[in-house]
Amino acid sequence: MSRQNHFPAVALIALLVSTYGVVPTLAESLAPVMGDQANNDIAASLPMLGRTYPIHYQISTERVAERFTGLLVRLDLSVEPGSTTTLDVPDQLTSHLSASGFVIDGGDWIGGGAVPKDDKLALKAASPHVTITYHILSDGSEDLNADSQHMVLHANWFSMRGDESLVIPEGRGTASASVDVSELPGWTVTSNLTGPVPLSQVGDSIFLGGSNYRVMSRTVSGATFRLAYPTALSNKAAALLDAASTIMTAERRFWGTPAKPVYIGLIELKDDADFSGRGLQGGFSLYLGDAVEHKSWLRLIAHENLHNWISRSIGGFPATDSNLEAWLNEGFTEAYTARLLLSSGLWTEQDYIDDWNISLARYGTSPVKTAPNSRILVDRQRDYDVNKLPYDRGRILAVILDQKFRTKTHGRVGLDDVLRAQMLDAKHNEKAARVISADQLFPEVAKRLTGLDLTDDLGRFIDRGESLSLGPDTLGACVTVNIVTQPVFDRGFDLHATFKAHGVLTGLESGGPAEKAGLREGDKLRIDETPTNDSRVTLSYRVDDGDGQSHTVSYRPIGTGTVSFQQLAARAIRPKTCSSNVAWGWKSAPATLAKRPHRKETP
Ligand SMILES: [Zn+2]
Repeated sequence: MSRQNHFPAVALIALLVSTYGVVPTLAESLAPVMGDQANNDIAASLPMLGRTYPIHYQISTERVAERFTGLLVRLDLSVEPGSTTTLDVPDQLTSHLSASGFVIDGGDWIGGGAVPKDDKLALKAASPHVTITYHILSDGSEDLNADSQHMVLHANWFSMRGDESLVIPEGRGTASASVDVSELPGWTVTSNLTGPVPLSQVGDSIFLGGSNYRVMSRTVSGATFRLAYPTALSNKAAALLDAASTIMTAERRFWGTPAKPVYIGLIELKDDADFSGRGLQGGFSLYLGDAVEHKSWLRLIAHENLHNWISRSIGGFPATDSNLEAWLNEGFTEAYTARLLLSSGLWTEQDYIDDWNISLARYGTSPVKTAPNSRILVDRQRDYDVNKLPYDRGRILAVILDQKFRTKTHGRVGLDDVLRAQMLDAKHNEKAARVISADQLFPEVAKRLTGLDLTDDLGRFIDRGESLSLGPDTLGACVTVNIVTQPVFDRGFDLHATFKAHGVLTGLESGGPAEKAGLREGDKLRIDETPTNDSRVTLSYRVDDGDGQSHTVSYRPIGTGTVSFQQLAARAIRPKTCSSNVAWGWKSAPATLAKRPHRKETP
């Protein structure tokens, strides 16, 4: 079972993931998997780009007495003699730096500071070529723990992002920069960077490899799709590559975007059930425990890859207060994630229904269900329920608006058409240097295409947070929309305060469900749960008894009163109007998507 959002450790990651869109620049495209050109055991060769580019990084793996000791980074910089250059130094770098610090050749440090205090180094050039070198040290550990997405350099592998390891010259963002990696014999080292990029994109990179790394690739229509993986995850690699390519291709085709090469770097997590992702220039890194379900990481890839378009290609984020736009950025992404996973054949109809039901239950039981949009700006980073709200609210609004558009235009225009037209508008705006963020552009384009003025709807359901409900046929004729009524959720103690007190049970409700189950104020709990407000879910806590002993307390978090929310169910008998698929807007989905076995229609 996935614990992507379990509390507290990964909940924090989940908050960051959703807030900052952990995969900000996932590759836009992926060539379809046709000829299976799995290419195991061959290291991806990073082209030698020589010194023709004004800014060049060389990363070399280093060994002393047959042991990997770390990395040597060399930066070659073309500069005007006598000029000064400031280097930005990632703060993560300083803790991994060797005692020799930053060594300069062809110039001098201003202020002589080899190790910077303010994460800046200034140099004065004495020649047209300045070289800076530094060593990043391995901690020598054999431990495969990479619970965070931070730089790790172990005894036989490493994972390091450009923005935490490379010093970057200031004020030269558009200059062309290249990075080469030379690896130890028997090692495989890969990167998402395969050629020169603007310097501003050098940080958006990963360097990943070791003696235990392999590369698998698929190349179709000139676009190569590479997966770098540790041998411990060999059993997952091919399935991951195939599924990722299928969904990424489906998404690219949906938006009509041309194919481009994709890099996926896989990093094993020690905790079997944890996973997360992070976007990079032309690809992403995926942090995966061995026991993470296929369904879970697939959803993560599908969601994060869609952020290439929503909101990035349809107007982008507002210049300030981007959380006010999360209803579109996250909510519409959620709606399309499920729909494209279904239409590409990677999800069954039941997977799709189950996924909708998680959203509908979370929305329906949310203590902040009717919070105004401004609350998301204020509390998104610190409140789990507020954080999840735009995902669910925006998702439900997306399908309701799709239905409204279709009704108004007699089936001619749906949400797909509006968003695709919005992508073209955004391109024109960009060329004309006009800035209209996705949330502002959306109602404009919707009005032009459908005649519908969304001012009232967006005011009610987004700004003021009025409750949203699916209509009986919003998601088509294949599913029924039912109301579930159940007891309200009551944990019986204050989870947040308990977490802050490092697991010491705080805020026990007298006579509440936790107390009835035997928990007491001051009990030392081990908390590892996916936050929910659903009283159907049994809670379970390990309580420390001291002396290394513990016991487990489990109970249903049933409070007084009831709550009602919507849930979907597949129709047992399918009406003729039900197509072979439950996804909303199915008729407009591209016919090029992968075929899947269709269930026979029952007349
Ligand atoms: Zn997202």
